[in-house]
Amino acid sequence: MSPATTPTRLDLKKDEKLEITWQDGHHCVYTLTLLRSMCPCAHCRTIRQDEQPKKKPLLTILPGDYSAPITVLNANLVGNYALKIEWSDHHDSGIYSFEYLRSICPEEARGEPRGYRGSDK
Ligand SMILES: [Zn+2]
Repeated sequence: MSPATTPTRLDLKKDEKLEITWQDGHHCVYTLTLLRSMCPCAHCRTIRQDEQPKKKPLLTILPGDYSAPITVLNANLVGNYALKIEWSDHHDSGIYSFEYLRSICPEEARGEPRGYRGSDK
Protein backbone atom coordinates (compact mmCIF):
# COMPACT_ATOMS: atom_id res chain seq x y z
CA MET A 1 0.00 0.00 0.00
CA SER A 2 1.31 3.43 -0.81
CA PRO A 3 1.33 6.28 1.75
CA ALA A 4 -1.17 8.19 -0.40
CA THR A 5 -3.80 5.49 0.11
CA THR A 6 -2.98 4.53 3.69
CA PRO A 7 -5.01 6.38 6.31
CA THR A 8 -3.26 7.17 9.56
CA ARG A 9 -6.37 8.68 11.04
CA LEU A 10 -9.99 8.07 10.14
CA ASP A 11 -12.65 10.12 11.84
CA LEU A 12 -16.28 9.61 10.97
CA LYS A 13 -18.95 11.91 12.32
CA LYS A 14 -22.05 9.96 11.47
CA ASP A 15 -24.28 12.95 10.84
CA GLU A 16 -21.71 15.29 9.38
CA LYS A 17 -18.55 14.24 7.64
CA LEU A 18 -15.65 11.88 7.24
CA GLU A 19 -12.13 13.08 7.82
CA ILE A 20 -9.10 11.15 6.75
CA THR A 21 -5.45 11.92 7.31
CA TRP A 22 -3.21 9.99 4.97
CA GLN A 23 0.26 8.68 5.58
CA ASP A 24 1.72 11.16 3.12
CA GLY A 25 0.39 13.99 5.27
CA HIS A 26 -2.61 14.90 3.13
CA HIS A 27 -5.84 15.63 4.93
CA CYS A 28 -9.24 15.12 3.31
CA VAL A 29 -12.69 16.10 4.50
CA TYR A 30 -15.67 14.47 2.82
CA THR A 31 -19.20 15.62 3.45
CA LEU A 32 -21.62 12.73 3.81
CA THR A 33 -23.58 14.00 0.84
CA LEU A 34 -20.49 13.77 -1.31
CA LEU A 35 -19.70 10.28 -0.12
CA ARG A 36 -23.24 9.07 -0.63
CA SER A 37 -23.43 10.57 -4.10
CA MET A 38 -20.11 9.00 -5.03
CA CYS A 39 -21.11 5.56 -3.79
CA PRO A 40 -18.92 3.10 -5.69
CA CYS A 41 -21.41 0.23 -5.90
CA ALA A 42 -22.49 -1.00 -9.33
CA HIS A 43 -26.01 0.33 -8.94
CA CYS A 44 -24.99 3.91 -8.14
CA ARG A 45 -22.29 3.89 -10.80
CA THR A 46 -24.96 3.04 -13.35
CA ILE A 47 -27.21 5.85 -12.15
CA ARG A 48 -24.38 8.37 -12.38
CA GLN A 49 -23.49 7.26 -15.88
CA ASP A 50 -27.08 7.25 -17.11
CA GLU A 51 -27.69 10.73 -15.82
CA GLN A 52 -24.57 12.12 -17.38
CA PRO A 53 -25.79 14.96 -19.61
CA LYS A 54 -24.29 15.46 -23.03
CA LYS A 55 -23.49 19.09 -22.36
CA LYS A 56 -21.68 20.53 -19.44
CA PRO A 57 -23.74 19.63 -16.38
CA LEU A 58 -25.44 22.46 -14.54
CA LEU A 59 -26.90 20.13 -12.01
CA THR A 60 -25.58 16.74 -11.12
CA ILE A 61 -28.27 14.18 -10.54
CA LEU A 62 -27.25 12.00 -7.68
CA PRO A 63 -28.19 8.53 -6.63
CA GLY A 64 -29.83 8.20 -3.25
CA ASP A 65 -32.72 9.73 -1.39
CA TYR A 66 -32.01 13.27 -0.26
CA SER A 67 -35.45 14.10 1.08
CA ALA A 68 -33.93 13.89 4.55
CA PRO A 69 -30.39 14.77 5.54
CA ILE A 70 -28.21 11.80 4.80
CA THR A 71 -26.45 10.20 7.74
CA VAL A 72 -24.40 7.11 8.40
CA LEU A 73 -26.00 4.28 10.33
CA ASN A 74 -22.97 2.05 10.34
CA ALA A 75 -19.46 1.97 9.02
CA ASN A 76 -17.06 -0.93 9.13
CA LEU A 77 -13.58 -1.49 7.90
CA VAL A 78 -13.31 -4.12 5.21
CA GLY A 79 -10.02 -5.90 5.54
CA ASN A 80 -7.34 -3.27 5.61
CA TYR A 81 -8.20 -1.52 2.42
CA ALA A 82 -11.75 -0.20 2.48
CA LEU A 83 -14.63 1.25 4.42
CA LYS A 84 -18.14 -0.11 4.08
CA ILE A 85 -20.83 2.43 4.85
CA GLU A 86 -24.49 1.85 5.62
CA TRP A 87 -26.53 4.96 4.90
CA SER A 88 -29.67 6.31 6.47
CA ASP A 89 -31.50 5.64 3.20
CA HIS A 90 -30.70 1.97 3.84
CA HIS A 91 -28.24 1.68 1.05
CA ASP A 92 -25.28 -0.40 2.15
CA SER A 93 -23.65 -1.96 -0.87
CA GLY A 94 -20.99 0.70 -1.28
CA ILE A 95 -17.49 -0.35 -0.34
CA TYR A 96 -15.21 2.66 -0.39
CA SER A 97 -11.66 1.50 -0.90
CA PHE A 98 -9.01 3.86 0.45
CA GLU A 99 -7.71 4.23 -3.05
CA TYR A 100 -11.15 5.35 -4.21
CA LEU A 101 -11.56 7.70 -1.25
CA ARG A 102 -8.24 9.29 -2.01
CA SER A 103 -9.22 9.73 -5.65
CA ILE A 104 -12.44 11.58 -4.75
CA CYS A 105 -10.82 13.74 -2.08
CA PRO A 106 -12.33 17.23 -2.55
CA GLU A 107 -9.06 18.97 -1.70
CA GLU A 108 -7.19 16.90 -4.22
CA ALA A 109 -9.72 17.66 -6.93
CA ARG A 110 -9.41 21.42 -6.81
CA GLY A 111 -5.82 21.66 -5.71
CA GLU A 112 -2.83 22.00 -7.94
CA PRO A 113 -1.08 18.93 -9.18
CA ARG A 114 1.58 17.65 -6.84
CA GLY A 115 4.97 19.05 -7.73
CA TYR A 116 3.53 21.95 -9.69
CA ARG A 117 6.13 24.70 -9.93
CA GLY A 118 4.37 27.26 -12.06
CA SER A 119 5.78 28.72 -15.24
CA ASP A 120 7.57 31.86 -16.36
CA LYS A 121 4.61 33.07 -18.35
ZN1 LIG B 1 -24.51 2.55 -4.10
